[in-house]
Amino acid sequence: MTKTLAVLGSTGSIGVQALEVARLSGFEIEALTANSRTDIIEEQIREFNPRVAAVADEKAAADLKIRVADTSTKVLSGAEGVEECARCGADTVLNSIVGIAGLAPTLAAIENGSNIALANKETLVAGGKIVMDSAAEKGVAILPVDSEHSAIFQSLQGCHGKNQIKRLILTASGGPFFGKTREELSKVTLEQALKHPNWSMGAKITIDSATMMNKGLELIEAAWLFGMKAADIDILVHRQSIIHSLVEYVDNSVIAQLGVPDMRIPIQYALTYPDRFVSPVKQLDLAEAAMLTFEKPDYETFACINLCRKAFEQGGLFPAAVNAANEKANELFREGKIGFLDIPKAVEAAFDCVNAVSDYTLEQVFETDKTVREATERLFI
Ligand code: NDP
Ligand code: MG
Repeated sequence: MTKTLAVLGSTGSIGVQALEVARLSGFEIEALTANSRTDIIEEQIREFNPRVAAVADEKAAADLKIRVADTSTKVLSGAEGVEECARCGADTVLNSIVGIAGLAPTLAAIENGSNIALANKETLVAGGKIVMDSAAEKGVAILPVDSEHSAIFQSLQGCHGKNQIKRLILTASGGPFFGKTREELSKVTLEQALKHPNWSMGAKITIDSATMMNKGLELIEAAWLFGMKAADIDILVHRQSIIHSLVEYVDNSVIAQLGVPDMRIPIQYALTYPDRFVSPVKQLDLAEAAMLTFEKPDYETFACINLCRKAFEQGGLFPAAVNAANEKANELFREGKIGFLDIPKAVEAAFDCVNAVSDYTLEQVFETDKTVREATERLFI
């Protein structure tokens, strides 16, 4: 039977690649969503003929309704419209929305019993416990799309119990500024930060890769997905992005997943798991790669990694706070309003905005997000 799929954030870098995978693997598309790029989603609606589509921006949604009035696709608007698409009942809901805006749709899809293919890492960083508890309660799978987490997930196939795992090793490309000093980082421009050496991605995650906040967010994401302590997750800089991550077992055997840096591999595995389908992705030629290198991260210069580790270890609302500070500071940097090193400064300042709590509600996560964004803005005005 044809599997049904909803792609939330279908107009973005991951969303477009997910639809390419869906086209080749023969998925039926139930729902598509965007924030405001109506030209792209219009084309996608015409090709995939989803039952429903949503655009978060109200004006853009009104525009899309007119554009696709001749199709059978129902067009919804606002954050509620996106959530309704998440509740469309597809076998799998792939969430590739950027930022905390993805959290409520992830929960809506879980509550409705769909499996989740998760690219939107901010969902697990800000609301990890709520998301994992809800998925366990509903018996739905959360399949990682993020390449490192897909690599770990693939390296864990055949593992007979968590007590056999010693540690997870997340690889990091190091981004465009690997090897630079803080002094040098204080002068980097937006244009330089947007030039990632190995991956072509959306603007927010490209900046997160330059600050290495991305690796900190991924550490928290891995801790939730695989039920690990932060202390048992290590980071290894591997400039070529060929080994996508590794699992070390108690017998010191290490299993890794390798491939060319192309997100269509982890996207496809999340959609076809446990099966593997033929893929158009380039074959890995290790002789051509010739050399794979490994180094320790410079935790002092790229302070965001350990700030995320600390936030996860402190627990409660601290991860939501560091995520919010980073989202706001990342946006201010892209708008040319703050410098590159103001991003880690904002992430560090987020710790002063929240109190320690042992348990938290979804409302508290959203409140924390709002408070910290406001505090981050005030930090630079
Ligand atoms: P993009 O910026 O390219 O795409 C983001 C998508 O989310 C777009 O469809 C955008 O719509 C939509 N969107 C933005 N804001 C909102 C909102 N407020 N409400 C609803 N939809 C919204 O991002 P990426 O595809 O690069 O990344 C998506 C997620 O996947 C991120 O969490 C990222 O960390 C993660 N990820 C990405 C990787 C990559 O290779 N790109 C790799 C691993 C993880 P519109 O186009 O209309 O603005
Ligand atoms: Mg990644």
